[in-house]
Amino acid sequence: MNIIDILNQIEKIYPNPVTELYYETPFQLLIAVVLSAQTTDKQVNKVTKNQGLFQKLKSPQDVIDMGYEALKENIKTIGLYKSKAKNIYNLSKQIISIKDVSSNEERYLFDRFGYIIPDSLNEITKLDGVGEKTGKVVLSVLYNKPVVPVDTHVHRVLNRLGIVCTKTELQTSAQIEKIIPDDLKNKAHHLLILFGRYFCKSKNPKCYKCVFKEFCKYYNLKK
Ligand code: SF4
Repeated sequence: MNIIDILNQIEKIYPNPVTELYYETPFQLLIAVVLSAQTTDKQVNKVTKNQGLFQKLKSPQDVIDMGYEALKENIKTIGLYKSKAKNIYNLSKQIISIKDVSSNEERYLFDRFGYIIPDSLNEITKLDGVGEKTGKVVLSVLYNKPVVPVDTHVHRVLNRLGIVCTKTELQTSAQIEKIIPDDLKNKAHHLLILFGRYFCKSKNPKCYKCVFKEFCKYYNLKK
């Protein structure tokens, strides 16, 4: 089964896949993704939505107005909260200082929200706390760029299925981006995350009802 057939099968289980992170503004999306590193989306949403953090933080200026100490206090239930607070505070300052608009998408954002989230991997990863994976998630969700961010779930699924044979998430991302057609990359990212998060889980994957059993490398090795 090729990757397109695999994605089609997964889409039958998870139609209309979207990010599970809560956000209303582009800046909030960036913050939610930064917060989600090594933490579940559920835990992030608890803080940003249920505890009302995003009621207070809609733009980078809101972060500066809140201040580093208060921000730290607000996110203390999230793993690595001290370094995340520092990064969010610093990247807010960086975003406020960006004045050059280099694309129509950035122009739209600036006119509508008064700030720019860079729309290239090279630029977005210059922000504090934004590595390649975080940058790709934002570029994919916000700008529909043809990238495939790979987290632990996507990495596991693709290796188990034998689509890639890689050691790191970055290697998987580089390989899978060559295989998946550009117009499917955005959807593929969400489908593979959902499949890994809820179906092909790290422990106790639901192999007993999986349509990929016949050719799944992991399943057939375990038999
Ligand atoms: S057979 Fe099991 S390990 Fe393989 S893809 Fe399906 S759920 Fe994952």
